[in-house]
Amino acid sequence: MTTLYDLHCHSTNSDGDLSPSELVERAAENGVTNLALTDHDTTDGLVEAKICADELNLTLINGIEISSQWEKQCLHIVGLNIDPQNDALQNVILEAKKMRQERAEKIAFKLEKKGIAGAMDFVKNSPVEGMITRSHFANFLVSHFHVSTLQESFDRYLGDGKSAFVSTTWTSLEVNVQAIRAAGGVPVVAHPLRYGLTATRMRKMLGAFKNAGGLGMEIVTGRYNPDEMRILANYANQFELAGSIGSDFHSPKNKWIELGRLAPLPDSVTPVWELW
Ligand code: AMP
Ligand code: MN
Ligand code: MN
Ligand code: MN
Repeated sequence: MTTLYDLHCHSTNSDGDLSPSELVERAAENGVTNLALTDHDTTDGLVEAKICADELNLTLINGIEISSQWEKQCLHIVGLNIDPQNDALQNVILEAKKMRQERAEKIAFKLEKKGIAGAMDFVKNSPVEGMITRSHFANFLVSHFHVSTLQESFDRYLGDGKSAFVSTTWTSLEVNVQAIRAAGGVPVVAHPLRYGLTATRMRKMLGAFKNAGGLGMEIVTGRYNPDEMRILANYANQFELAGSIGSDFHSPKNKWIELGRLAPLPDSVTPVWELW
């Protein structure tokens, strides 16, 4: 069987639409042999995912995607092959949960001031008790006809600097990278091109990440074109970071992103899975 890695995706434990089991089943159907579940700031889905993965003979890699503060920027750091029981990691998770809860109350308050009531009740009653993300608010805004698409909810209300945006100071990049390392995992910069960094800032960020103990960066994601992959592969080699590959799948409703539908990692890059 050919190996096919997908090392970034979300379940209902954060802002995905599929349960961990449904996600693993879909990955297996798509030919994925090695899957990492990387929910936002939580490891709660990993037990269910592992049970299902064992039944389907798929290798599950324990993962997480941690929101991390670097200067004024929120960076997403994926932790791969982590021990979910590790105390340092669980402390970071607890902190993030608290911050997400407080931020959610503030977002709901801002929406209420704009005449949109009921957001917090909706979010709290979401089907699974997971991490509250802005995507939950986006679902609320769409299902209650305040906007017609998820994108519109970010463009009008939830996106950075928009009317219901609440800025958060996440746990620092350094602390999160160290927590992932303490948990035996490999810290990876998620979707490096999604932060809108100039080349100079990108180098500064990768330098800070590397200094903090970072080991990898995503090169192939569900959206990148060959030119972007070449640029990222060059950065990875320059900063001696391993390369990762992950769809960042959230939902079957998004037809452009699918589990396992990924270009291969460029030959010039060391694959992250060689680090575990
Ligand atoms: P949070 O971590 O709670 O700030 O939520 C971030 C999540 O919202 C991301 O992981 C994406 O899944 C989603 N998201 C962020 N920006 C957008 C956007 N412009 N359009 C659609 N989804 C977005
Ligand atoms: Mn998300
Ligand atoms: Mn992300
Ligand atoms: Mn993600």
